[in-house]
Amino acid sequence: MAKLSIVAALAAMVALTLTALRLRRARRDFDEEVEAWKLRLDLDLRQARKERNQLLDALAEAFLLIDAETRVIFANRTAREMFQGREILGRSLADAFLDRRLVDALAPCLETGEAVTTRVVLPAQASPLGNQERRGTNAWVVDAARLSESSAEDPTTRVVIRDVTNEHQTEQIRKDFVANASHELRTPLAIINGYLENLLDDGLADDPELTRRFLKVMRRHTERISRIIEDMLVISRLESGEAGALKVKPFRMRSCIQDVLERLESMIRAQQAEIRIEMQDDALSFTGDRFYWTQILFNLVENALKQNPRKGLTVTVGCTRDAEATRIWVTDDGVGIPSADLPHIFRRFYRVEKHHSQEEIKGTGLGLSIVKRAVEAHGGTIEVRSAPGEDTRFTIVVPLEAEAALQTGLDPSEAPLGSAGSS
Ligand code: ATP
Ligand code: MG
Repeated sequence: MAKLSIVAALAAMVALTLTALRLRRARRDFDEEVEAWKLRLDLDLRQARKERNQLLDALAEAFLLIDAETRVIFANRTAREMFQGREILGRSLADAFLDRRLVDALAPCLETGEAVTTRVVLPAQASPLGNQERRGTNAWVVDAARLSESSAEDPTTRVVIRDVTNEHQTEQIRKDFVANASHELRTPLAIINGYLENLLDDGLADDPELTRRFLKVMRRHTERISRIIEDMLVISRLESGEAGALKVKPFRMRSCIQDVLERLESMIRAQQAEIRIEMQDDALSFTGDRFYWTQILFNLVENALKQNPRKGLTVTVGCTRDAEATRIWVTDDGVGIPSADLPHIFRRFYRVEKHHSQEEIKGTGLGLSIVKRAVEAHGGTIEVRSAPGEDTRFTIVVPLEAEAALQTGLDPSEAPLGSAGSS
């Protein structure tokens, strides 16, 4: 009996040991499976993060995630580029953005969670983002909102920053143009009105001599208004970018120069100016819109004469053509253009102060902006150098490819530029 009990006990022990072993194996299998799941989840999570980062990196806008302590916890590629290698992860916003105004723009969203979209305009020389130095005005659209899935106690805010500097500048130029144009038109109109009042209200019309004098002045000012309007129309036509607006035909550059000199003959004679023509070949033929080339050369030669009323000025007009480009230049040995003004003289309505305070030299300041537009419409570039009193030189370069593109009706700006291009 006792033997039987011992056998039963042994059997029970063996059974228990076996169960324990089985359980241990099951436990090990379970642990291994959990480990495998963990690994898989980790991989999936990493993959999902990678894909999210790739998507966010593809954005042209800077994208940042900010935690409850206003620290940057994520920055996409555009944001990293904006800060040019300066480490911003883990930094507070105030540290990351050097310009306080950008942080201030975000403050309402960070404090209360209220979504914010605002435009921040920073004046010249400001360096709002890291060590990036930018010239001129910077404009940014800052858009911030709290992530909906983040908890109220531990909020995460996403911030999108878009650089709108170019749009801002274009808008500014447009505003300036309207303001300048209105101003330029208002002056001659006010003068005409003044004379009309004199004639009609003050009864001066009874004096034929005076009336005639007043009418002459009025005519001069209406001509000025017409010229301004005509110039503005030319600019807007050229700016509309229709290369098709050009009437392109081959013409002799020499005869175009001749036309311009004939139109300016009385001025040349009055100033006893010496005109030199430097042509490699009198028969040089150029393909373009002759009307605009006459305007270009007229403006350049007229400027040289107009800015230098003294006697004995030398003006040179030249043209050559080689395997790469046609080059056209107009030079004079007059007062020149101060280097501080050089970068601006192609801007609409820009006139060098110094020249005009001394004596009344007529002009609107539209001439050179038309010249530049017209040259660009032909796929060319224009540049100016000036050593006052010695040599003021405007040089136009039109690559042969651009000229050929115009001939075939292509937009010359699409033509591959030769090495001759400069601006
Ligand atoms: P507009 O041509 O519209 O009648 P403008 O001649 O004053 O007026 P632009 O032709 O655009 O205007 O020239 C701009 C300014 O550049 C001139 O007012 C003048 O101050 C300066 N400038 C241009 N060419 C010369 C030059 N050859 N020598 C000295 N200054 C020049
Ligand atoms: Mg001019």
